[in-house]
Amino acid sequence: MSTRELLVFAPLRLEAAAVGRTLRRRARVIRTGMGPHQARIAAARGLAVDDARGVAVVGLCAATSDDLRAGDVVLASELRHDGGAPIALHGNGLLAGALRRRGLRVRVGRVASTERIAGPCERRYLAETGVSGVDMESAWLAGAADGRPLAVLRVVVEAAGRELVAPRTLAAGTRALLSLRRATQVLEEWVDALRPRRILLAAPRSFCAGVDRAIEIVELALEQRGAPVFVRKQIVHNDHVVADLERRGAVFVEELDDVPHGATVVFSAHGVSPAVRDRARELELDVIDATCPLVSKVHAEARRFAAGGDTIFLIGHHDHEEIEGTAGEAPDSIRLVENVSQAERVEAPDPDRVAYLTQTTLAVDETSEIVDVLRSRFPALRGPETDDICYATTNRQLAVREVAREADVVLVVGSRTSSNSQRLVEVSERAGTPAYLIDDETDVDLAWIADARTIGISAGASAPDALVHQLVRSIDALGGAEVVQSTTATENVRFRLPLEVRAR
Ligand code: SF4
Repeated sequence: MSTRELLVFAPLRLEAAAVGRTLRRRARVIRTGMGPHQARIAAARGLAVDDARGVAVVGLCAATSDDLRAGDVVLASELRHDGGAPIALHGNGLLAGALRRRGLRVRVGRVASTERIAGPCERRYLAETGVSGVDMESAWLAGAADGRPLAVLRVVVEAAGRELVAPRTLAAGTRALLSLRRATQVLEEWVDALRPRRILLAAPRSFCAGVDRAIEIVELALEQRGAPVFVRKQIVHNDHVVADLERRGAVFVEELDDVPHGATVVFSAHGVSPAVRDRARELELDVIDATCPLVSKVHAEARRFAAGGDTIFLIGHHDHEEIEGTAGEAPDSIRLVENVSQAERVEAPDPDRVAYLTQTTLAVDETSEIVDVLRSRFPALRGPETDDICYATTNRQLAVREVAREADVVLVVGSRTSSNSQRLVEVSERAGTPAYLIDDETDVDLAWIADARTIGISAGASAPDALVHQLVRSIDALGGAEVVQSTTATENVRFRLPLEVRAR
């Protein structure tokens, strides 16, 4: 009986040979031969290999769609064959990401297994049913997984509309086999990561009330006014949200001069300076303001302190849109302070007339260090009436710190542009746990989690929770996961919509 960690099925000698020497030492490779009959026999042999942690089917396939070319990898999300129920393969996003990082072009999609070689007509028909690749074995081999993690990796050797008899050209065949070799190398990372785990889900996480409101404003604007609706800057700092709204007719611009005269424009949740509002008036734009009310509160404080003659120390990051907007409220009175060392050096014309404000998405502990330094240098320092760092930022930081205490590694879902998501990574690291910021599950390097028995997961205030669920599904597909919610606060904040989109 095999004592290898991985069971690999490959139909033909050439495909089996693509399993590299290193992986071969850790895998039991079964050459299945071609077609359903051979596949069924091989599957029965595979069932007897009961000590492998995972099962992989590797080989070549024919493409059904014109945008796939020789050498592209089709990673099966579902297997089909005539007369059989579809077999779903959930959560292969981590493997897809690992393959892409190796420079491979990857399509996650349906693979159909046919009884005979599928000609161009059959492949066209299969394409219409959402199939990406066609082979003659995978669906019958799937049963050999018997509850173990299963990956089906097929590399395109024949483009759509061509006969699957032999590689039409030597070049295509060589390209496909080279890709197959590189793809099977990734299986080593995959097998290293196969183990049952615990997932600690930090709560609260994902959308806050300000982000919910901003997205709803764009959706309502599209519904009420029709596409296109222009949005100045990213409505919230998340690439998935932006791409989704773009698909629905939103057009994101950097500056108002890119918006046609008189068109509808939405200001993002991060707020704008008075200069931007003035420019919108000059261009006679139909403005809908999606600035988060908690950011507007900081703007109002800036105006109040400036009107009272105070120098305002604005704690935040110089390149963040929120800081640009707040600073624009009182440019002559505001001094930006980004860190403790700047707090130690910043000056004010009258040390008795000083105040501070902060960006809403900063790290709570770091900010209080900066405020302490300022207060020690300027005893008359005044602050906002209520904390500027918003409830959502504070809650997410407390929640992620809690899971970081127990987790071996923390994954934070959020875009690189998202300040509050970056802070969640830093908070976890300060709690002593390595943490990584990921846009979605395809960004996870399998090596980060290979040894982790407990994975903490959180998401920034601008990241959709659906991405967290996808990530959980993908980790679960690596050998099972017990999912535990770690709740440190309950949120029920809602903000009113602006008049411009409110139902009348
Ligand atoms: Fe508003 Fe805070 Fe959300 Fe930013 S993170 S949009 S300030 S609630």
